[in-house]
Amino acid sequence: MSALKQTVRHLLGLDDDTAVVIQQLACAEPGCPPLETVIAVLPPGGPARRWTLHRPVEQVTDDDVRTLLATAPEGA
Ligand SMILES: [Zn+2]
Repeated sequence: MSALKQTVRHLLGLDDDTAVVIQQLACAEPGCPPLETVIAVLPPGGPARRWTLHRPVEQVTDDDVRTLLATAPEGA
């Protein structure tokens, strides 16, 4: 997951004060794989940004992350 974090940092041009959290969570939505990957970007003064990929973290590629981060974060 740390390689993925570095990809997120690089693509978004984040500074060291901004935390990147990548979690693999269970997804209960019908038709979804059982595991999803959540990427959260947490700047010290907020606001947090969050994206979800409906696949396990081991199947997430740099290209997936690039495409995902070009979309609006959840709740924005
Ligand atoms: Zn899902």
